[in-house]
Amino acid sequence: METGLRTASDSQGNEFDLVPWQCPTCGPGPVKVLGLRGGPSHHRYRLGIESRIVQCRGCQLIFPDPFPVPKSPQALYGDPANYFEAHDLDGKIRNYRELIRSALAKAGKGTDAAILDVGSGRGDLLRAAQLEGVPGAVGLEFSEAMIDFAARNFGLTVLNQSIEEHAGQKPGFYDVVILNAVLEHVYDPGSMIAAASKLLKPGGVLYLDLPQEPNLLTRLGNALNRLRRCRSVLNLSPSWPPFHVYGFNRKSLSTLLEKHGVGIESIRIYANARVPSRFSRKDRAIAFVGTQIMRLANLTGTAGNMFVWARRTGASG
Ligand SMILES: [Zn+2]
Repeated sequence: METGLRTASDSQGNEFDLVPWQCPTCGPGPVKVLGLRGGPSHHRYRLGIESRIVQCRGCQLIFPDPFPVPKSPQALYGDPANYFEAHDLDGKIRNYRELIRSALAKAGKGTDAAILDVGSGRGDLLRAAQLEGVPGAVGLEFSEAMIDFAARNFGLTVLNQSIEEHAGQKPGFYDVVILNAVLEHVYDPGSMIAAASKLLKPGGVLYLDLPQEPNLLTRLGNALNRLRRCRSVLNLSPSWPPFHVYGFNRKSLSTLLEKHGVGIESIRIYANARVPSRFSRKDRAIAFVGTQIMRLANLTGTAGNMFVWARRTGASG
């Protein structure tokens, strides 16, 4: 059947549909083409497929157009067993306990708070809430392996549901909703924020942890490429892990949140300064320079991650 849709494959044979895309916040409107990202010509490890990366001229959101939609997402996300091995559970839970305490303080609630963690994974954050004496913390997660892990190890409540489905069942129920490293991955961030807003009580608290783009590293890298007359850019990883399909900054995030009755109260901008490298001397040199840039970025508010506290201000969406 001829659908008119173009497709592309990466070097591993993973197939993607290339779907014409527009800014999920502003709709059709002018975009600025930043450059090309991925594939043999536009990634330093030749990952993914070549995507054209654009930035909305209205809200500054960065996204690929056309948008590479994987034909079999499960194959791309891999085996959860690797995930369990690779992450330091105890260290994460310690950090999350601090986050839970901040969330309770901002929500003006005690241990009777209702907390929702969207994309709860192994349940690290829910476990932290449990250790802080909050029994009413619920997770949403699609991976049955993750749900099983959280239930078996900690007796945690994790539902195999989308945030949109959950919002239909529990409108206005939560004191705190947490979007920890999820908004940059979903195809429809507008629908996700609308659901998060709907789930919150009036005055309820939304916490987001997501990359900031552009940031100093992508700006410098892109400028350097332009000097070399190369069309590669460093923004996003639309067709390889960690599959970042949107790049938000303060403006694009606040525009999206305000559309759904959520106002930003504070943003901390920070990134771990260490840039990973592989074995070649050249690659280590690139990583060293990257690390120095990241240190500068942390000092100037242009680093690669945003930690955001926001609050539901408007009427239910
Ligand atoms: Zn926009």
